[in-house]
Amino acid sequence: MTVRGLIESEEMGITLPHEHLLFYHTPDDLVLSDPVLAAEELMEFSRAGGKTVVELTNLGLRRDAMGLRYISDRTGVNIIRGMAIIKTNGILQIWTKRQWKKLLRRWSRI
Ligand SMILES: [Zn+2]
Repeated sequence: MTVRGLIESEEMGITLPHEHLLFYHTPDDLVLSDPVLAAEELMEFSRAGGKTVVELTNLGLRRDAMGLRYISDRTGVNIIRGMAIIKTNGILQIWTKRQWKKLLRRWSRI
């Protein structure tokens, strides 16, 4: 599933499997917040033959669904929103089924 809907696997073409196009990590002052600039830069990938990007910005970095849709519309590049969870202090948190369901409900809205 891309930000513009379903595509067939043959349509994926050359794929970047791990990318961050837009995110806001304010404690470290790391911000990519300009969809217009991101689209311009992604056009280089498209011109080189790239077709699909997997965007793995996680929930804690203020994902920007509308910005990703804009970038995909503007460039024609398929963007797949992945999901990631940051490990805290190197310890992977074990989640219950209920916690996963809550996260997936939240993730599907943003
Ligand atoms: Zn990453």
